[in-house]
Amino acid sequence: MRQSLYSKLVLVMLVLILSLMLVVGVFLVKSVEDFFTQQFYEQMQTVFDDPALAADLRSAARGDDAPERMSEILSAYYGQLGIDSGTRNFYILSSGGEYLAGSESSDSVSGLITPNVLSAMNGHNGYMSDSSSSYMDVALPVDEGDGYIVWVLDNKQVSQQLGNNLVNIILAALGVGLFISVILSMVLARALVTPISQLTRAARRVAVGDFDHKPESSARDEIGTLTRTFNEMASQLESTLDTLKKSEAMRREFVANVSHELRTPITSIRSYAETLSDSMGSIPPETERDFLGVIVTESDRMTKIVQDLLTLSRFDAESIEFKFEEFSFEKSVRDVYNAMLLEAQRHHHDFVLNIKSDPGMIRGDRARIEQVIVNFVSNAIKYTSDGGRIQMTAGREGDVVWVSVRDNGIGIPKEDIDHVFERFYRVDKARSRESGGTGLGLSIASEIVSRHNGKISLQSRLGKGTTITMALPVGGAANG
Ligand code: ADP
Repeated sequence: MRQSLYSKLVLVMLVLILSLMLVVGVFLVKSVEDFFTQQFYEQMQTVFDDPALAADLRSAARGDDAPERMSEILSAYYGQLGIDSGTRNFYILSSGGEYLAGSESSDSVSGLITPNVLSAMNGHNGYMSDSSSSYMDVALPVDEGDGYIVWVLDNKQVSQQLGNNLVNIILAALGVGLFISVILSMVLARALVTPISQLTRAARRVAVGDFDHKPESSARDEIGTLTRTFNEMASQLESTLDTLKKSEAMRREFVANVSHELRTPITSIRSYAETLSDSMGSIPPETERDFLGVIVTESDRMTKIVQDLLTLSRFDAESIEFKFEEFSFEKSVRDVYNAMLLEAQRHHHDFVLNIKSDPGMIRGDRARIEQVIVNFVSNAIKYTSDGGRIQMTAGREGDVVWVSVRDNGIGIPKEDIDHVFERFYRVDKARSRESGGTGLGLSIASEIVSRHNGKISLQSRLGKGTTITMALPVGGAANG
């Protein structure tokens, strides 16, 4: 790439310089020629428009030795006619165009009849100029006597020489220009190519997953913008890949968790069933009943796990329908309290309900909201040693209703608090499993609450107890 950009730039510069010089050269040479031609004709006009000269020439033409006399008269105008320059001469021709006299011998002009001489032979002033011819001339008829023609001829040597000099100067300038342009284009190419090659290297690294070397550019030009855009793109790509990796890791972990969670009940069901089938009625009926009880409990647990997983996967696929309706939040809280009272009493908990301010009606999926509150209370019952204190409080603040469940149970270690809403996350697996937990309750609760645009907050101190609160906007989900 470096090669080609270099050569392209050099080529562009060369073409530019060449065409510039060509145009300048042509114009210069042409205008020098034009200037000389114009000057020649102006000079001739000035001289021959002089009435005194015309009169002199006419009277000389009438006398003897007319050509010599006329030649003498014209010699007095050497300077004005520019004859002394050496490239210009005058001639006296007969009316038939024959050489009679002149400022030099006939050798150089013998046989030359120019269009201007032809005009003069026809009795007209010959002042025509033809820029393409190698000479310029003026021929004037003098009609007195035998009739003569005064002819001034310039071989254009002066202007040609000047033109040649100009061409040489331009060629020299071209050489210097080319040299400078090569140097300049190399410098320019380097300035352009360096950031581009940096970018290319960075792109190659990104292509193989190395995001650590970002090209730097503070330039405000297009390449600077390109570099910054590239960096943004690379960062986005990096974070997308990170997210993908994370979600892939989460997916794997989730699958591992599910397998593990299901394997435990399956293993115990299998071993109890095997024992029962191997014993062929040799174990006491009570033990048999116990074993069957375990099998039923474990099957129930599996059913619960599978149901919870189904619920979560429907949340993920957003295929779950929420039944939004107006209902009394206070009544739901009371219903849950009443439903859980027996269970709390079974564990000798002091279970109390306290409605602070009437929460009134809210809009939401009643069954699911109650499911969340049940989950809070059942956690409080599970994670509080028997004989604890569990307090349910509900109220309303502005457009938000809330319910909180507070226990004086085992609490949650600080570092685990943020994780308890994750799927299958349990602080104490054994304790959770013993009490029939699946580790999915709070993940489901947080999905439900977020569908209602609500929030769950949790405060806990290890060994002291936990308070978990759900706050819901009375309007429910905006799209519900
Ligand atoms: P589980 O079925 O295990 O109860 P949850 O999702 O409902 O699952 O809760 C996740 C974890 O959070 C529980 O395993 C437990 O470790 C912790 N936790 C929840 N509520 C409480 C609470 N009131 N007191 C102590 N720990 C709790």
